[in-house]
Amino acid sequence: MKESSELKVKIDASSHSLAAKVFQILKDRIEQRIAIAVNEAPSGAQIILALCPDLPPEAFRIDQVGTAVRVAGGSPQGLLYGVGKFLRTSKYDGAFVPSTWRGTSTPHCSLRGMYFASHFHNWYQVAPEPEIRRYIEDLALWGVNAIKVCFPFINLTDWDDPEAEPMLEMVRRYARITRNLGLGFCISVNNTLFKGAAKQIRAVPLPDPTHRRGNSGNPICPGNPEGHAYIIGNVRHLMEQLSDIGVNYLMFWTYDEGGCACEKCMPWGSNGFLKLSRELAQVCREYFPELKTILSTWMFDTPPEGEWQGLTEAMERDAEWLDYVLADSHDDFPVYPLEIGVPGNLPLLNFPEISMWGNWPWGGYGANPLPSRLQRLWNQVKHKIAGGFPYSEGIYEDLNKIIELQFYWDRDRTARAILEEYIAYEFSPVVTSDALSLIDMLERAAAASYQKQPVDSQMVRRASHLAEMVDRTLPDRARGSWRWVILRLRAVLDRHRFAGKGLNSMQAEEALVRLIDLFHCQIETEDPYHHRVRPPLARAISRCGEC
Ligand SMILES: [Zn+2]
Repeated sequence: MKESSELKVKIDASSHSLAAKVFQILKDRIEQRIAIAVNEAPSGAQIILALCPDLPPEAFRIDQVGTAVRVAGGSPQGLLYGVGKFLRTSKYDGAFVPSTWRGTSTPHCSLRGMYFASHFHNWYQVAPEPEIRRYIEDLALWGVNAIKVCFPFINLTDWDDPEAEPMLEMVRRYARITRNLGLGFCISVNNTLFKGAAKQIRAVPLPDPTHRRGNSGNPICPGNPEGHAYIIGNVRHLMEQLSDIGVNYLMFWTYDEGGCACEKCMPWGSNGFLKLSRELAQVCREYFPELKTILSTWMFDTPPEGEWQGLTEAMERDAEWLDYVLADSHDDFPVYPLEIGVPGNLPLLNFPEISMWGNWPWGGYGANPLPSRLQRLWNQVKHKIAGGFPYSEGIYEDLNKIIELQFYWDRDRTARAILEEYIAYEFSPVVTSDALSLIDMLERAAAASYQKQPVDSQMVRRASHLAEMVDRTLPDRARGSWRWVILRLRAVLDRHRFAGKGLNSMQAEEALVRLIDLFHCQIETEDPYHHRVRPPLARAISRCGEC
């Protein structure tokens, strides 16, 4: 092998198994991009991976040692984030040119999560394990440090349901992959359980005059002694099933799936929900003593019923059991924690919606980049929050995830700067300006469609032409990568939807089939919710109807 086709890497932290894994990730990502062998070598290294205990644990530094570039982390996790920065700022155009970025970087937000809503046979539920592992590694390179999934009680009759074991294995798989990478695993619990729960322990449906809270799932009344025992017993069972892998964060969820409007439980957010969450924290800490707890206030005071104020008063009496408060809404951020303060002065997390806005089915037309919207919402909260868990339905909003993760890393980084780094690394630096224009037009089309305004047909034609032009410019690797393909197909489908004859043309159908393939969707399904996440191919079938 010629010297120039080998890249030598010294690992100054090889006693850490995670550091060895970080080297494997670095090797894999470089070798995937360029014909070069990346090998571990004790001397003559061009890259050094090191641990530096004087850095904060999640921080990294990239500097020069002689002729080598050294990437140092305050911990193996910090090293992973540093390798992400190194990879993105290196060049792969013909020859590998190691990053010239130099400096030290420490994340601003302590909890940079991502919530994978693994249901409806979406990508998270059905993707093969190697794809999932690789995707979580990719997010880690951009700074994620916690992954949340739910056990889907909503779809199951009880623990003996034939689907219960596969679903449990899915949750266990996410926990294992996440924790093996040194990231935190988060699971959510509340009063919503199996659909087979007895009628007499069911919750009283919530009043929902604004139609924003929802009454999904099978909520149980914790004020009913039998219902209470049912909730605690099932949560214990779930914790037992995870006890050999581990859980780092426990999230208590309020509404949509959750809630009870009986006299004992109302107002849910500051009464029944709080009592139950406090007790579940104690129960789950029997299994995982180091567990951190997160209380969601999603849809508190919708309508106003004093839930925020009630939470503040409860936290004044006892905040010991709680570590974070999470807040958000469908649109603008709730006013209470921003203007009056976070109950218990706890760190505040957000829950940005990156999946559903401006597209239906979710991901059905490919990528849904929303940089302007996410920037606007971020500006409302960026100085107040300590992180968050964006809500994700699939890989089609990869761009939105990266924007949020980098906001968490550096509050003042702009969506545009993040996109520039993403485009240069995932596609090619040559197309940065055109890809930015394309993303801007796709977002404007989605916004017009969401607001039921006419979509500018000339703009979607321009977007489509631009996408084809970029496509021709890209190196083969980028042209074939799913990240680019979902963006390009979105431009194709927008043209057919808004400036053509609809989705029945051969080209539109081909695009939908390709998306179905990338997202592992089912063309024929028994799942009555699958159509929510399946590209809208006319010949696709939902045998059990559509909910
Ligand atoms: Zn109740």
